[in-house]
Amino acid sequence: MIKLHDKYFKPFVSAKEIDAALERMAIEIAEDVGDEIPMFIGVLNGSFMVVSDFVKKYPKPCEVTFIKLASYEGVKSSEDIQRLIGLTQDLTGRTVIILEDIIDTGKTLAEIHRIFKNENVKALKIATLFYKPEAYKKDFKLHYIGIEIPNKFIVGYGLDYDGLGRDLPEVYQIKQTQHMTNLVLFGPPGAGKGTQA
Ligand code: 5GP
Ligand code: MG
Ligand code: MG
Repeated sequence: MIKLHDKYFKPFVSAKEIDAALERMAIEIAEDVGDEIPMFIGVLNGSFMVVSDFVKKYPKPCEVTFIKLASYEGVKSSEDIQRLIGLTQDLTGRTVIILEDIIDTGKTLAEIHRIFKNENVKALKIATLFYKPEAYKKDFKLHYIGIEIPNKFIVGYGLDYDGLGRDLPEVYQIKQTQHMTNLVLFGPPGAGKGTQA
């Protein structure tokens, strides 16, 4: 068990299981892509480990780049429209495969689809290491899924809890015991705070 900030996490997915999932995905994608050279696009920050390990397993030539979605600063808007950082290449006619760490509600994915609508790509495909089917609220197709997980908060392998945990080589799941609940409810001021995105 590990502690990050005020929360406890238990081992959930081993580095070996992650490795096997990425290997499966790499082989499946390579078969589907055929002779084309795909452009893999990682969505920062969370996907940096996924991309690094995935492309090493991809058995054919490919290109790799990263994008980052950032909220507009100083704009009060009820709609949570995001802007894109990092897309400089011309993607006309290309097969683009988005590499995600995790798909939860699908909100980030909706933004990606909105952004890529204006690029004349040949195909836009979505690959994600982790997927929470119970939390997913959109209709966008997920072409390649590594590991389906229950709707519980995880950390490690690129995924953070309030900045911590990205560096862990395996994945941990939040521990919600009676004891934990008491900690959050009756702990010192500030205990139990923290973002989950
Ligand atoms: P969505 O937009 O699909 O709701 O969520 C995608 C983003 O939310 C991820 O890229 C990640 O930053 C964050 N997220 C969703 N679920 C988890 C989780 O279980 N753990 C962590 N650390 N981040 C998550
Ligand atoms: Mg992500
Ligand atoms: Mg995060």
